[in-house]
Amino acid sequence: MIRLIEKLAKEHRLELAEYELLLRNRNPEAAELLTELAQKTRKEVYGNSVFIRGLIEISNICKNDCLYCGIRGGNRNCVRYRLTPQEIMECCEEGYELGFRTFVMQGGEDAYYNDELLCGLIADIKQRFPDCAITLSLGERSRESYQKLREAGADRYLLRHETADAEHYAKLHPPQLAFADRMRCLHELKELGFQTGCGFMVGSPFQTEAELAKDLKFIETFQPDMCGIGPFIPHIDTVFAGYQAGSLELTCYLLSIIRLIKPNILLPSTTALGTIDPLGREKGILAGANVVMPNLSPASVRKKYMLYDNKISDGDESAQSLDSLKQKISAIGYQVVTDRGDIKNI
Ligand code: SAH
Repeated sequence: MIRLIEKLAKEHRLELAEYELLLRNRNPEAAELLTELAQKTRKEVYGNSVFIRGLIEISNICKNDCLYCGIRGGNRNCVRYRLTPQEIMECCEEGYELGFRTFVMQGGEDAYYNDELLCGLIADIKQRFPDCAITLSLGERSRESYQKLREAGADRYLLRHETADAEHYAKLHPPQLAFADRMRCLHELKELGFQTGCGFMVGSPFQTEAELAKDLKFIETFQPDMCGIGPFIPHIDTVFAGYQAGSLELTCYLLSIIRLIKPNILLPSTTALGTIDPLGREKGILAGANVVMPNLSPASVRKKYMLYDNKISDGDESAQSLDSLKQKISAIGYQVVTDRGDIKNI
């Protein structure tokens, strides 16, 4: 194990079977060494800076029916909302005042946000806040659509691959959603010049070390700029209501491995991690993450973007509590910075 970890830290790649071994044989000593090397690596690239993103959850209306997701189209108990361009702009204004220089617009696949509307909105935000980056996380769209959004000024796009194993993908999604389409989107986003983010849920139903090893191999070969991972958490109105949540320990272990695979990757310590453990966000940063994404959605809609049970949106998860978050992050030796927080070329 020690030899494998040292090899990973030096070469930033392993064989598929080696990733699987690293996961199957994990133990406290291995975790400690990984954490130590991941912290050292991220400090070499980003010092002790932590980047923040203002997360605006623009709509919980979704045409898809992902089996794990609380806002899936088929969930009749979900109270639906969508934000208008003006409401989104107001979130950005508030966020800018608070010190955010990246706005992430995330939502279900809601046809209301056609290319024309989004391009207008992106151009307006860019004109108003030229020193800010815009990240989109709006699911699968055509290449033409991605291209228009990019030309309008969007800088980054987050589209988790969810799992790098096609069979596993089919177990988490309805037949209309295909693994090949997800992969096509990710490759197109990258070709179009977006800073591109993939990612997956840790402990999703049917996931074993074999699938996780494939996720790691995918990250190693795809070389995303960002990678969002967080524990799977069941939602009561989904097929997976009765399944167990993923663990904090495995999520942190994977964060450290991903940091070693790509030293300059932008790696968020996610809301899901903060949801399963009150110190989850801090533990994620200590494992190698360097981004946090506080919630900048209007307070009235926050509880409606319930991807999973008990998803946090108050307290330090709220963009308005940034001072408190800053203190907690400095208490563990890191520092929140006011910066676009682009990937650093090394
Ligand atoms: N429609 C967009 C945004 C999806 S929500 C898209 O397709 O990209 C953002 C992420 O939340 C998803 O990619 C998924 O990985 C995560 N998510 C959804 N349901 C979850 C659950 N029950 N537990 C943990 N994470 C979940």
